[in-house]
Amino acid sequence: MKLEIRNLTKTFGDHRALDIPQFQCEFTRCLALVGPSGGGKSTLLRIIGGLEIPDAGTLSVQGTSLPRREIQLRAYRREIGFVFQGFNLFPHLTAQQNVSLPLTEVHGVSAQEAQERADQVLERFGLSVHAKKTPGQLSGGQRQRVAIARAVAIQPRFLLLDEPTSALDPEMTVEVLDLLEELREQGVALILVTHEIGFARHAADQVAWVADGNIAHCASAEAFFGESSPAPVRRFLAKTLKFN
Ligand code: ADP
Ligand code: MG
Repeated sequence: MKLEIRNLTKTFGDHRALDIPQFQCEFTRCLALVGPSGGGKSTLLRIIGGLEIPDAGTLSVQGTSLPRREIQLRAYRREIGFVFQGFNLFPHLTAQQNVSLPLTEVHGVSAQEAQERADQVLERFGLSVHAKKTPGQLSGGQRQRVAIARAVAIQPRFLLLDEPTSALDPEMTVEVLDLLEELREQGVALILVTHEIGFARHAADQVAWVADGNIAHCASAEAFFGESSPAPVRRFLAKTLKFN
């Protein structure tokens, strides 16, 4: 997958959240975005997903520029799977309904096919036993796996994940990382904001450093976590890994 950015800016009020003069990267399975809090990772991910519109500049995915008109943006968004940190499942619906609802409501799939597809994807992720439970009856890790199942059920072009494990206990984090690893192996392309440096190192083929609203560095995972990275990156990694 290829991502190209040129003169991209995004301002909130008088705060410039992003200002990326130029960025280009190509990855096969997983691009990880890492960097300090407030650096612009979520904003960038939301722009890539068409949830946020930049003030200026261009971003292209696979050689195609992001659409700017709402109607085209909506079509673009439909092809992308989103997973955020706060597992935004509908609390009053079962796991199965959470997965099938976007299929019927957004993707025009018949109720019966949606149910079948939901059952299939829940089974694939070992969640069949939870199909009839509501989010309140599931653990955090199970909820996040349902959220990932829901994102995958629409057969997205790629998945965008914003700190999918940050609200989870270590044990549940592993559950979710295992699932992401499986997706990656199955060839689902991921763009992932994460503090799980160990996972990024293992799973990402490219890692981008997002700080102060810019992407100042991007390299293969091996190079990124090695000695050749710029000093701010190495300092950040050293701090992050200190107690790991
Ligand atoms: P990160 O995900 O790396 O922590 P964000 O993209 O969330 O960074 O935020 C980048 C900057 O933009 C921060 O200073 C944040 O406060 C600001 N910001 C992000 N979203 C909004 C918003 N909707 N309104 C105002 N400021 C925002
Ligand atoms: Mg964020």
